[in-house]
Amino acid sequence: MSQTNEKLLTLIRRSPSPFHAVEQLRQRLLAEGYRELREREPWQLAPGGRYLVTRGGTALMAFRVPAGDWRGFLLTASHCDSPTFRVKGTAAGPENYLRLSVEPYGGMIMSSWLDRPLTLAGRGIFRRRGGVESRLIYVDRDLLVIPSVAIHMNREANKHASFDPKADLLPLLGLGEDRDALARLAAESAGAKREDLLALELSLCPREPGFVGGAAGELVVSPRLDDLQCVYGCLEGFLQTREGGNLPVYCVLDHEEVGSATRQGADGTLLREVLERICAALGRRLPEETADSMLLSADNAHAVHPNHPEYADSGHRPRLNGGVVIKHNANRRYATDALAAALAEEICRRSGVPVQNYSNRPDLPGGSTLGSIANTHFSVLTADVGLAQLAMHAACETAGAEDTDHLIRAAAAFYGATLRQGEDGGYDLA
Ligand code: ZN
Repeated sequence: MSQTNEKLLTLIRRSPSPFHAVEQLRQRLLAEGYRELREREPWQLAPGGRYLVTRGGTALMAFRVPAGDWRGFLLTASHCDSPTFRVKGTAAGPENYLRLSVEPYGGMIMSSWLDRPLTLAGRGIFRRRGGVESRLIYVDRDLLVIPSVAIHMNREANKHASFDPKADLLPLLGLGEDRDALARLAAESAGAKREDLLALELSLCPREPGFVGGAAGELVVSPRLDDLQCVYGCLEGFLQTREGGNLPVYCVLDHEEVGSATRQGADGTLLREVLERICAALGRRLPEETADSMLLSADNAHAVHPNHPEYADSGHRPRLNGGVVIKHNANRRYATDALAAALAEEICRRSGVPVQNYSNRPDLPGGSTLGSIANTHFSVLTADVGLAQLAMHAACETAGAEDTDHLIRAAAAFYGATLRQGEDGGYDLA
């Protein structure tokens, strides 16, 4: 397995929830010498300084102040959440079954969650002297399963698969009537007392580890590739780059799968506030830096499907390992315009990374991502990019093993660039 994908799969395995993902990224950045800033304190920033800030445990921004002169920001933004099921509590019966009651989070492929080992991840809120505290929770064992109905009882199972979340998708926690088992498991895995547990924010997570497969190791298969493959690729590019003439910013946001309109989402205030505070601390004004700024919104894209190539557009047909995908949409569900596409392509070309294009088949409404939403708060030249993958929003997804390196190289080249808008609206790229 390439070292890159080994590291990617390690990050994914250690990130069973957005809370864990952001903590992994935070630890990595601290180890790389980044200093953590608090939103509640004044910021003093110095040339050559490296900083990170988090919000709500599931959003993170990191940036470096160049030692030399700089103008504008070069940003990447990706998301740390994935479709899953949020746990509401336990549900007793029928008979002696003990189940969890759950609610879908985002638009998942429901069938992919059946009959596979699952567990719980997220956080718990615990009482402490004079207040409350948040602790990470990950029950690190095969704990749950959502059993399907036997083919003998549902002969239509292979013809008309349809799932009712309130009836078909309740995970089995065990047998008996111990309704408190969930809370005890959660408290125990947080290293806290059961009686101090006040609230839980837990989701299901598949237990099978990701792997590199295919005859020549050309595939990477794992839960949560959307969007942790981009989270990882952009991070490595951010850390590996040489200094350019713009200020590099790395963003990971939450709640993309449910519309981003949250405190930690792209429709929240974090992105804009951090940029404004950087400007204020360094004697700049954000509107004057925006023209020389660019955002790469990095979120995975749909590869042509091997069994259903007809779902792909006739012209834009991304392949696995075909390089960075630039996403286009006439109705601006993707923020890319021709200028941003040309600059993204040029950055990839200069770093030796192949480029491909994606748009939805015109009669199929596609997904959207955080690029356009972020633009309602910080309006900036934006390219929506990603890596081609199959089975998006399944419990286990498939992408190209070489593409992880493609994104790292492209992100490093992007962060190391010097971007300046010309008098004529064109751009100089060095
Ligand atoms: Zn995504």
